[in-house]
Amino acid sequence: MYNFFATDIEYLKGVGPAKALLFRKEINIHCFGDLLNYFPFRYIDRSNYLKISQIREDQNYIVLKGRILKVEEKGYARNKRLTAILKDDTGEIELTWFSGIHWIANKVIPGAWLSVFGKPTRYKHTFNLTHPEIEIWDPNTPPSIQEKGLQPIYPTTEKMKNKGLSPKILSLITFHLITQAKGSIPEFLPRNIIERYQLLSREEAYVQIHHPLSIRHMECARQRLKFDELFLLQICILRAKRRIHKHIGLNFHCVGENFLYFFHHNLSFELTTAQKRVIKEIRADTKTGFQMNRLLQGDVGSGKTIVALMSMLLAIDNGFQTCLMAPTEILAKQHFVNFQKFLSKMNLNIALLTGSTPKKERTILLEALSQGKIQLLIGTHALIEDSVIFQNLGLVVIDEQHRFGVAQRALLWAKNSIAPHILVMTATPIPRTLGMTLYGDLDLSVIDELPPNRKSIKTIHFTDHSRLKVFAFLKSEIKQGRQIYVVYPLINESEKLDLKDLMDGYDSITRAFPLPEYAVSIVHGQMKAEAKNYEMQRFLKGETQIMVSTTVIEVGVDVPNASVMLIENSERFGLAQLHQLRGRVGRGSAQSYCILMTSDHLNPDAKERISTMVSTCDGFKIAEADLKLRGPGNLQGTQQSGMLELKIADLVEDEPIVNAARFSAMEILQEDPDLVLEKNLPLAWEMKQSRQDSFWAEIS
Ligand code: ADP
Ligand code: MG
Repeated sequence: MYNFFATDIEYLKGVGPAKALLFRKEINIHCFGDLLNYFPFRYIDRSNYLKISQIREDQNYIVLKGRILKVEEKGYARNKRLTAILKDDTGEIELTWFSGIHWIANKVIPGAWLSVFGKPTRYKHTFNLTHPEIEIWDPNTPPSIQEKGLQPIYPTTEKMKNKGLSPKILSLITFHLITQAKGSIPEFLPRNIIERYQLLSREEAYVQIHHPLSIRHMECARQRLKFDELFLLQICILRAKRRIHKHIGLNFHCVGENFLYFFHHNLSFELTTAQKRVIKEIRADTKTGFQMNRLLQGDVGSGKTIVALMSMLLAIDNGFQTCLMAPTEILAKQHFVNFQKFLSKMNLNIALLTGSTPKKERTILLEALSQGKIQLLIGTHALIEDSVIFQNLGLVVIDEQHRFGVAQRALLWAKNSIAPHILVMTATPIPRTLGMTLYGDLDLSVIDELPPNRKSIKTIHFTDHSRLKVFAFLKSEIKQGRQIYVVYPLINESEKLDLKDLMDGYDSITRAFPLPEYAVSIVHGQMKAEAKNYEMQRFLKGETQIMVSTTVIEVGVDVPNASVMLIENSERFGLAQLHQLRGRVGRGSAQSYCILMTSDHLNPDAKERISTMVSTCDGFKIAEADLKLRGPGNLQGTQQSGMLELKIADLVEDEPIVNAARFSAMEILQEDPDLVLEKNLPLAWEMKQSRQDSFWAEIS
């Protein structure tokens, strides 16, 4: 099949080798398809021109049509400029050029009819257009097709402009492109989808985005192209999901003694309905004969750990080993201690493996692991290493996914000859549209309910002026037997400089809360694991009342007696992080507080973040606000994905299109999973061209 899209840009009318080089080097455009997908960022409406008497100061870019009266070169050397007077039937205006005078002077000659485009500036009582774009205009002949409708303006670089690829030339070149494209842009969407959403044909969309007849045409074109982008993405994701789900899986066919013993004897509370439902979902999913790939989403404190633990017991009951991977050493350690408590009297062999496990201990541990003697292993990234070999790994749980890349997830599959089941837990709620895209390859379980008797956390914003008042409040909480977190932002845990804030803060806290009445712990990323652990333990046991730390405690730490989370310089944290930190309190029965300290002057974004935190504890609302403030590309965990670099669609604004695209993609794949039906061949062909497909193929 002749591939119009893949044709080298050099062969386009008006391009040639020299300009082709510029296209490649400056804007990464190699072929016709690249240029078709290089969209204008603005349009000029030439049909909509002004009379000179209608010019006002606040107008942005305007189009005028008239006749040149006189032309003059003024000034010398650097001050040299060309001025001309343009006249229509309502008045006159001065046009000025400072560069390219030679070229301009050839066209701007007295008596010439011109249409000019530029931004008016006011000088005393008259207006002036500086460096307007010009076009010869013949009032006696009707406009050519190219002049009709909106004129596209493309982003260009300085080099392109200097070397003859001005926005105007570019617009001429894309005009050639779409003229030549007629009949060469194959349609890949089935007719019924085009009709259902009343989409333009693909060819028409490309014509109308580059040289639209009207604003309305341009908007229809954008709709269609956004749909295409999101639809192809969803097809990729859903096919990746299918590939994953075709992996033969281990069969957890029974519920055995460990699961039941734990449930009847060691579980000290009633599971929430949501927890029960999710455990059922996991049970059903691990006995289908296919590999489970499931995302467990639940707000901070919703009780994901128990669900993970019971799933792991299920694996053990079916004769498999299981492991849990946590993002930090502190968290891994804490899970280990909690699991030992939860599993007391159960005669299971649990172990902990982190970067700081001593070599000798590590050797023994790895030996036992490979012989299947350790049933449940908890650890950090260290679990991924090649030297960690299981005898028969059945289930991998990954806690707090946002710290792990997609590729790391895939590495764990290789730890067993038949890929183990995977359960990914995240406490960062993800807005639905984003979730469908980011985690679209995983099945979703949601814990949408907090354990009973949780009091909602009061969130209060203070500036530094109120510090004394805040400290007095902390003292009254401590008097009631409560404990307190004080958190400092650290941009980079390994930066020595950044520690200064924290150490200064620690000093002032120890001065305000002196021994022997008070005891203060401190934890930060540069401490040795042993020291960190010692401090954590003191706080956990209630020997210290205040824990001063960096965000190392952000995820997962569980001290039910802590009732206040004080966050210093909270304007420097992102919303997701603030929400995570706040989730560290409110776990016991006492009323809990989150105190957000900031300086007096906040930029608008910071103000918005702080007021969002004060107004809601709902993780989903916070995620939505975060997405709006920062855009999807900056959300935690999405950076490494690379797949969110959308050209035209926007996951926030285009939610309805995301939904329609997802629905349509599902509909097609349901009928024709391998895209082999005659009617879907154009789509299959298009998918092959798509770069995103290769990204998804890599991870599945
Ligand atoms: P997260 O979802 O943030 O990981 P955890 O699993 O750490 O939450 O649970 C938070 C706290 O709630 C823990 O102390 C846990 O023991 C407790 N918890 C979990 N489920 C329940 C429940 N159904 N009823 C009461 N407390 C629960
Ligand atoms: Mg947790």
